[in-house]
Amino acid sequence: LPTLLTHPAVPLGLALGLGRKAISPRLAAVGVLASVLPDLDVLAFKLGIPYAAQFGHRGFSHSLVFALVIGVLGLALAPLLRAPRWRSFLFLSIATASHGLLDAFTNGGLGIALLWPFSDTRYFAPVQPIEVSPLGLSRFLSPRGAAVLRSEALWVWLPCLLTASLILASRRRRA
Ligand SMILES: [Zn+2]
Repeated sequence: LPTLLTHPAVPLGLALGLGRKAISPRLAAVGVLASVLPDLDVLAFKLGIPYAAQFGHRGFSHSLVFALVIGVLGLALAPLLRAPRWRSFLFLSIATASHGLLDAFTNGGLGIALLWPFSDTRYFAPVQPIEVSPLGLSRFLSPRGAAVLRSEALWVWLPCLLTASLILASRRRRA
């Protein structure tokens, strides 16, 4: 994982750029949850499931199929989220899928089971500029934790903020 603090950069950036008329505050909040949801799979370690197993960390919950399932849930619950169904589907799918895709850019751990259930292969991106976050808070509050936050600021928060401002700017121009 990039840290739990950083995955929400994607849904927050999108919501900020598109504005609250397009992405309701409820939909944005559920998008934030969706972006960190895949890492609930660290429970697998407690249950004795090996890292490399399909139900291990960075396994099924980090796949594109899992992201689509969360999207379909969003589609079904769209009225509660005060959003059109297709928008709720797209936003939550993207928020969830972004988690596994970002993890693939980290420089440690095992790769991501992006194509589960069709393949158990663990994938990494061709470049891995993001410092992998240590598992566990105690190790996180160390000099290494600061290096992780720096690399996440540079490689995740900055691009997300830039994207948000670009979307905002193009919306303003059209208005
Ligand atoms: Zn993860």
